[in-house]
Amino acid sequence: MSKFQIFSEQEIDSLRKGGKILRSCLNLVEGMVSPGVTTLELDQAAEKFIRDHGAVPGFKGYRNFPSTLCTSVNEQCVHGIPGEHQLKEGDIISVDCGVIFDGLYTDACFTAAAGEISSDAKKLMSVTKLCLEKVVEKLREGVRVGDISALIQETAEADGFHPVKALTGHGLGKNLHQFPDIPNLGDAGTGPKIPAGTLLAIEPIISAGSDSVEAGEDAWTLSTSDKALCAHFEHTLLVLEGGCDVIA
Ligand code: MG
Ligand code: MG
Repeated sequence: MSKFQIFSEQEIDSLRKGGKILRSCLNLVEGMVSPGVTTLELDQAAEKFIRDHGAVPGFKGYRNFPSTLCTSVNEQCVHGIPGEHQLKEGDIISVDCGVIFDGLYTDACFTAAAGEISSDAKKLMSVTKLCLEKVVEKLREGVRVGDISALIQETAEADGFHPVKALTGHGLGKNLHQFPDIPNLGDAGTGPKIPAGTLLAIEPIISAGSDSVEAGEDAWTLSTSDKALCAHFEHTLLVLEGGCDVIA
């Protein structure tokens, strides 16, 4: 499908409910991030929370992904598989999660610190979060896809960081990934204009070093090719005439 999906009021109501479950789930998991916890423990807590609230994990089974969360540690950018890996003091972890509620997807991610982290890691996290916050401020009906891409790129590069080239934000709704792709770098004034009523997952994925990624042995985990730290924040946003709503 190469056009924007527009939602009914009833669907928007479902998206808000699903988004609330997803955000509450991520808040729970963020509170658990600390040295010693395993990524599997985070995953199990997330799956239980989502199912207890009448929703379905959006990633589990998607293209055979085995888990509720993607847990990506340090140089891992996306799609890390939860397991027996124990976080240690100084790690950063990106926790990405999707939820299906009433047949509609929401998708969100945060990066958090296990204990005390380096000042470089703190800077990377805060700049990545700023990339997302700037999009939330700017996004409204009529903004072009390239405007979002350029804003993320400028914000990251202003502090010497680099958006990962191969990974993009995306439309979502009936599918987890649908039109349009939203690259994290590009030129303002290019790409389609975004209509009101569109749902977008905006997700700056920012590297402290290389902007290219390599797949791990599990064929899922993507890490920076030079092992530089990577951070990732994501909101599901509903585009409105005069701004946007954070759905998750
Ligand atoms: Mg995500
Ligand atoms: Mg996403």
